[in-house]
Amino acid sequence: MVGLLIKKITAGTKEWASSNINIFFGCQHNCRYCYAKKIAIRFNRKSEDTWKVMELNPNKLLQNFRRRSGRIMFPTSHDIIPEFKSECFQVLEKILEVGNLVLITTKPHLEVIKAICRDFFYYKDLIQFRFTITSIDNNLLRFWEEGAPTFEERFESLKFAFKMNYKTSVSIEPFLDSNPKKLIDTIYPYISETIWIGKMNYISQNKIPKEDRANYKKIRMIYSHKNLLSIIHSLESYKKVRYKDSIRKYDFQIPSYQAPKLFN
Ligand code: SF4
Repeated sequence: MVGLLIKKITAGTKEWASSNINIFFGCQHNCRYCYAKKIAIRFNRKSEDTWKVMELNPNKLLQNFRRRSGRIMFPTSHDIIPEFKSECFQVLEKILEVGNLVLITTKPHLEVIKAICRDFFYYKDLIQFRFTITSIDNNLLRFWEEGAPTFEERFESLKFAFKMNYKTSVSIEPFLDSNPKKLIDTIYPYISETIWIGKMNYISQNKIPKEDRANYKKIRMIYSHKNLLSIIHSLESYKKVRYKDSIRKYDFQIPSYQAPKLFN
């Protein structure tokens, strides 16, 4: 029964929001597993070298937004970088002022989060933060997400938003530690909503330099059926935990209170 209920929830970002908005091409964080980067390279819009150069889409900056049904995810194919926060804030303001619900998904920079909490306090009830914190280990973060903030900066951002009474949630997708339990124990007190765990879906096997192969191999090992099962068991009593479709598709027995609900 639980399995049936879980399968009704749409996969991918659609289980978090009904639409998304982006205003830049490229992303300074330059994560190795980035799906948006993979697509941009496939359609010759960016290259491996130019992905980290963020280019503003001027049409998006000028666009006005209507009230949409469901929730809007902002952004999804770039991040909110301190250097470009005024452009992002300009658009965020236009999305919120017409009453849209917004899921702000980001590998958070503390400076940006403090500014959002201050500047958008009036819209607090429309906003939920979903901070991506994929590991507690800065060596892993540096390898997989070279341009993104350290664990400490992301954790400080989470604590700040929580203390300002914003709705807070975390995405551990893709999880990079063998078991994300230590990370979850650390962040748990600062989560008002949910914690999502997912696998890395897009590991490019091509052209991996010899010195990087151990990290790719480790990811394949920690995503084994056996390890996923042991993670699920270890997190059984954690009511705020949810699993992304990349894990749910294996039909593991997951407690009913960890079943995803639309937009939680
Ligand atoms: S932060 Fe997101 S959009 Fe930016 S490179 Fe990483 S995965 Fe891609």
